[in-house]
Amino acid sequence: MNRRYRKTIIAGNWKMNKTLSETRAFAEEIKDMLGRPKWCEVVLCVPYVNIPAAVRLFKESRIAIGAENCHYESHGAYTGEVSAEMLKELGVKYVIIGHSERRQYYNETDFTVNKKVHAALEAGLHPIVCVGESLEQRELGVTMELIAYQVKAALAGVPADKMRHVVIAYEPIWAIGTGKTATAEQAAEVCESIRVVIRKLYGARVARAVTIQYGGSMNAKNAAELLAQPDIDGGLIGGASLKPADFTSIVNDANQE
Ligand code: PEP
Repeated sequence: MNRRYRKTIIAGNWKMNKTLSETRAFAEEIKDMLGRPKWCEVVLCVPYVNIPAAVRLFKESRIAIGAENCHYESHGAYTGEVSAEMLKELGVKYVIIGHSERRQYYNETDFTVNKKVHAALEAGLHPIVCVGESLEQRELGVTMELIAYQVKAALAGVPADKMRHVVIAYEPIWAIGTGKTATAEQAAEVCESIRVVIRKLYGARVARAVTIQYGGSMNAKNAAELLAQPDIDGGLIGGASLKPADFTSIVNDANQE
């Protein structure tokens, strides 16, 4: 983390978990545990149907609400889809774009990721743009090239003045939901390389200010070490964000002065 130049952000990704009543129970449980973190922004990205309740329930605890996806058009004949504008009007602040599960199961491509980043920014949302390599790609030794390509493709056409709204999440696919975490060195190396790519695209000032998260089995035990790396400015957290005590513990690690 480097708070001098950029925000630390801990974001939970609930995926397809928690009904409305479970969302209420989580809010009740975490309210007293979490307090009001001063040094980091806390976000919960929840299923679409829980967004209105989550915005209301978490207002008091100052947790910002995010969505897990959005469509790239503002409206139209796209049955079952939800636009960034619709999310904005509900009080959503962040939206995850290009999560590897969406790339893997729903044909999300670098091209649609880029269109969604533009749509999110246009609507006034903060996109959390996910990039990451598979185990095969890591073993082939192409991680850095692949991540650089994904970052460049996602940000194509995004002007420098919009970059302060963009968050990048480095999520090695082999570490998501597997209990296998990248070592702090592996995560730090890739996060640093992402900042180098952004520096080449936008210059040092923009690169210094961009929040880069790590995601992939981050939990109460390993968060402190990962967050101690200078280019890791927070976490995108799946499994551990479903448990109030674990999520609070990670936020506390990120909230050290
Ligand atoms: C994620 O869903 O983005 C994620 C990192 O999941 P997990 O923490 O469960 O690996």
